Amino acid sequence: MTIKEVFEKFEMLHSYTFSTIDGEYPEVRIAHFLTYDDNGLYFQTMKVKPFYAQLMKTQKLAVCALVADDGSADHDEDGLSYFPPGFFIRVSGDTRCVSLEELHEKAKKDPEKFGPLEKDIERYPTMTTFVLHKFKGELYDYDFEKKNKDHKLDRSRFAFNKAKYQEPGFSIDKDLCVGCGKCKKVCTFNAIKPGKTYTIDGSRCDECGSCYSVCPKDAIKAKSPLSKSEKKAIRKSIKEYYKQHPVK
Ligand code: SF4
Ligand code: SF4
Repeated sequence: MTIKEVFEKFEMLHSYTFSTIDGEYPEVRIAHFLTYDDNGLYFQTMKVKPFYAQLMKTQKLAVCALVADDGSADHDEDGLSYFPPGFFIRVSGDTRCVSLEELHEKAKKDPEKFGPLEKDIERYPTMTTFVLHKFKGELYDYDFEKKNKDHKLDRSRFAFNKAKYQEPGFSIDKDLCVGCGKCKKVCTFNAIKPGKTYTIDGSRCDECGSCYSVCPKDAIKAKSPLSKSEKKAIRKSIKEYYKQHPVK
């Protein structure tokens, strides 16, 4: 994805959660990105707000938004969360304060993109501009009920300006896999492909841990591994579940 495409995804919602760090705790509020360029995503806040103080102290920011096709999350007949098809997008990384001189320079070159930010500062002189410049993120496109496709997820990750990211999904060690197929049977995300040794398509994997827990050879690598006893207990629960809900 490009920074423009990331901005356009956020624009579909206009307002979303901006999280910063306040001492030991995260703090969250609703805000929005105002514009973008190759340097990053721009937003503003007022110098007198804790949001400003937290950004100046840590420079760290995380932002997340969810866009559902036809409304927000609901519950199904079992009381479980139901999400109409949609996507969420999240970004996190480092911010820096944009000086007035730099903003004027940008507005001179591109008044359409940066002029409104100058106007806001004229109206509210404590307003200050920030740019999220070195950041990574993820687009998590979901269709949990498989209304429009044969799988639930299309995840893609990206990073800009020297930020790094880890590919989504679990992976299978081909040296340990014996091709028994137990992992595929419990993957409701249709993310596992059979073969002499099995493989996981990370863009479809929700990292739910079911395959990881049932693999008899410990061939599946989780990003945050469980202890042996936790894994055993989860394997037992999965077996119980499938006894009661056989796969048709
Ligand atoms: S359950 Fe484990 S050993 Fe069996 S196919 Fe899957 S990864 Fe391979
Ligand atoms: S972690 Fe979950 S979603 Fe990912 S491959 Fe395993 S069972 Fe499928």
